[in-house]
Amino acid sequence: MSRLQNRRFTLIKRPTGMAQRTDFEFSTVQAGEPGPGEVVLRVLYLSLDPAMRGWMNESKSYIPPVGLGEVMRAIGLGQVVASNDPSLRPGDFARGLTGVQDYAVVAAQNLNKVDPQLAPLPRHLGALGGTGLTAYFGLLEVGQPRPGETVVVSGAAGATGSVVGQIAKIQGCRAVGIAGGPAKCKYLTEELGFDAAIDYKTEDVRAALTRHCPNGVNVFFDNVGGEILDLVLAQVARRARVVLCGAISQYNATEVRAPKNYLSLLINSARMEGFIVFNYAQRYDEGIQALARWLAEGKLKAREDIVEGLENFPETFLKLFRGENLGKLVIKVAEE
Ligand code: NAP
Repeated sequence: MSRLQNRRFTLIKRPTGMAQRTDFEFSTVQAGEPGPGEVVLRVLYLSLDPAMRGWMNESKSYIPPVGLGEVMRAIGLGQVVASNDPSLRPGDFARGLTGVQDYAVVAAQNLNKVDPQLAPLPRHLGALGGTGLTAYFGLLEVGQPRPGETVVVSGAAGATGSVVGQIAKIQGCRAVGIAGGPAKCKYLTEELGFDAAIDYKTEDVRAALTRHCPNGVNVFFDNVGGEILDLVLAQVARRARVVLCGAISQYNATEVRAPKNYLSLLINSARMEGFIVFNYAQRYDEGIQALARWLAEGKLKAREDIVEGLENFPETFLKLFRGENLGKLVIKVAEE
């Protein structure tokens, strides 16, 4: 292993606002050796997730911050090149926290083996990976949609949101997406089968919600927070469920905007509940089986937005915050 050259990005400065290339150091070192129970993965694809911005902050979260000088944390998919654990053999594919680098030394018990027959490899980071599972457990377990109800999702054309709206349709609900720009809105209604889409960049969101949700919003799956959360809170139905999945509009803010219309929850006997997909780690197989079945049946469509080259990590990451991705944003690190 030590002969292998490992390119990597380490975090050297905590960003203020948007992350910049100068917050990272790009260097090449020798790949590490696997200890007992560990494997070495050759990283093929990296998942770019808005949560990575939160991991760069010093503050307390659901996992510790990335330490200064450490390899930037990221979920990756790779092929095992050396193994000291019987559960993974050289040649196997696996997904887990690899970090932004070419070769990762990871404990086998912290990796999920991936079946390359099920779908193309990058899909295991999207619809069959973290964002698909987030949509699946967040909507079904926290949102608990019932047939005939109206489900609204923000960040609807993104990796998580696009799956949420489609699962809502599979459950017999009405799906309304909120996304930025006409191309994304057209994609939602014409390709993914959403009943309606609201372009928050050009439309009056309040009026559009009233038009598309005449009986109010039964489930709101929120990926963006901020003003959009407030506008939807004002239109929730009685006993609505607001699923707090993410708040991307706030991740680069130095001061987080708190919801102003939260009393709407009281007035409507509604609830708002946050969740982290890792809470469901014991049930990932169940989620992947369901998502894979829907993909095979053509009930679920998935799309990846693939950018080539590990060296482009800092600029590619920013695409998430500029809305420049359509579908799951992935970096291709090496040839399969
Ligand atoms: P994504 O939706 O594929 O990409 C992010 C999208 O957010 C962008 O394409 C952009 O779409 C939208 N956006 C960016 N800045 C915005 C702003 N200021 N206001 C409104 N929309 C904005 O990313 P993803 O990986 O699926 O993540 C979506 C959300 O789910 C994030 O909040 C993430 O943190 C959360 N998440 C939570 C969990 C969990 O366990 N709770 C797990 C995974 C992801 P537009 O062009 O439409 O603006």
